[in-house]
Amino acid sequence: MHRRTGCPGCGLVLPEPRLAEPPRLHASAACEAVLHEVLGFEFQHPVMLRFHQLTVDAYGAQHAAGPGPGVGVAYGLAGLWLALEHGFSAEEVRAVHRRMGHPTPAWPVFAPPAPPQRWLTVLDVAEAGVRQHSDGGHARAAAQWAESVWSVWLETSPGVDDAVEALLRGIFLETGRHEGLHGTIGPAGAVHRLLGLLEA
Ligand SMILES: [Zn+2]
Repeated sequence: MHRRTGCPGCGLVLPEPRLAEPPRLHASAACEAVLHEVLGFEFQHPVMLRFHQLTVDAYGAQHAAGPGPGVGVAYGLAGLWLALEHGFSAEEVRAVHRRMGHPTPAWPVFAPPAPPQRWLTVLDVAEAGVRQHSDGGHARAAAQWAESVWSVWLETSPGVDDAVEALLRGIFLETGRHEGLHGTIGPAGAVHRLLGLLEA
């Protein structure tokens, strides 16, 4: 029997892989291996790439702390806020992410919900999708996973939605990062739409 370890991010308890890359995020090696299984399925089936952004953001928002400055989670939370609260498409979320730039000390540090949390994990997505060879199962589970991660953040860190909005306002309205972007389609359109939200 392999030893079982809990993931420090999402709490998922899995047997430790015998050979594994050291995890890059605040995750167990076994949890990150499941993430790679799910990402591989998304890349094999281009129709599922629209769920790729939700996968990356849900996973990022669940694996928040760690030895780094702890700000990487901001991208995940911003992605979930844009997609789930405001209906941004994957392409629009990516366009906003690219324009967010690198974290600065001015960015808030989002303290992660402590495990165990009653949230879905990447394993639920793997079991409903890649392990059944089911695009539909993957699609449903990825959407439910993202919803579940965001709702646990909202429950355990009340005001996290306002903090995300304030972060984006600081980046996009106060630093002039949107200057030079014109038009309402493509990446410029996504930022244009975000500005409309922030200025409302
Ligand atoms: Zn995990």
